[in-house]
Amino acid sequence: MTRLTLLGTGGGRFATVTQERATGGVYLEDGVSLHVDPGPGSLVMMRRARLDPMRTDGILVSHCHPDHYTDAEVLLEAMTNGTHTRRGYLAASRSVLEGTGTIGPAISAYHQAAVDEVRMLEPGDEMEIGHVKVLATPADHSDPTTVGFRIATTNGDVGYVPDTSLHEDVIEANKGVRMLIVPVTRPLRARIDHHLCTEDAAVLIEGVQPDVAVLNHLGLKILREDPLMQADWISKKSGVPTVVGEDLMRIRMAEHISIKGPGEGRGHGRRGRRGGHRGGGNDQQHGKEPPPSESEGDRTE
Ligand SMILES: [Zn+2]
Repeated sequence: MTRLTLLGTGGGRFATVTQERATGGVYLEDGVSLHVDPGPGSLVMMRRARLDPMRTDGILVSHCHPDHYTDAEVLLEAMTNGTHTRRGYLAASRSVLEGTGTIGPAISAYHQAAVDEVRMLEPGDEMEIGHVKVLATPADHSDPTTVGFRIATTNGDVGYVPDTSLHEDVIEANKGVRMLIVPVTRPLRARIDHHLCTEDAAVLIEGVQPDVAVLNHLGLKILREDPLMQADWISKKSGVPTVVGEDLMRIRMAEHISIKGPGEGRGHGRRGRRGGHRGGGNDQQHGKEPPPSESEGDRTE
């Protein structure tokens, strides 16, 4: 069985600073344990999810924006037994490991030296962490070195799409995955550069045709509208069951894919291809403070 835990489903600056959704990334367990994009609050969310950061085998960071990397160093310290045991993998974009001149590096040389293997990934690169193969996939983002991850588990491939605009190469690189994790920063009719809005996500998901798509990296503007409605819109447009990610949601991949939101009891898992899942069951109306002004809203990433 392969298990994913969503340690955060928020993304962009304002969802991050307000923590209307957590920003702890995605944790994948399949014999080995991988932590993808450990943003602010990852360590705290791991404790809430009863995951032990000292058992992580690999940390993957897609790009050098704070909502994706800020907890990486402390989690590397956990993974390496407080830097006393050289172990584990760190795989990340060039911006995260070396910097690009304007951004990064995000992880110090000291922390990189504590890890058994550091890999700087470009699209097309492959690596193995135990029996799990990780393929770096392309992106078109404001950090030009951004990579996504196609993770080949024992129960099929998981496509982790990083922050990106809609691009044919991103669709191609994820075709055939069973589960697609999609960063939808913006709702319908609110496209911004370098990110996916609802319409873009539908085109991506329709092109990839996974068994199930999970909406992740939700920005403040989409949270203030109705994320469930956006997911329904995508499901209808793409024909793919599309779920709104919830903080601490668990996704199990075996013969079937079952999804359990943090507010659901046992036995409410849904199966892929059996129809859309509306995710979570939790109240999706987050926060009471007024939304940011339009100009702020345009800076949600
Ligand atoms: Zn970004």
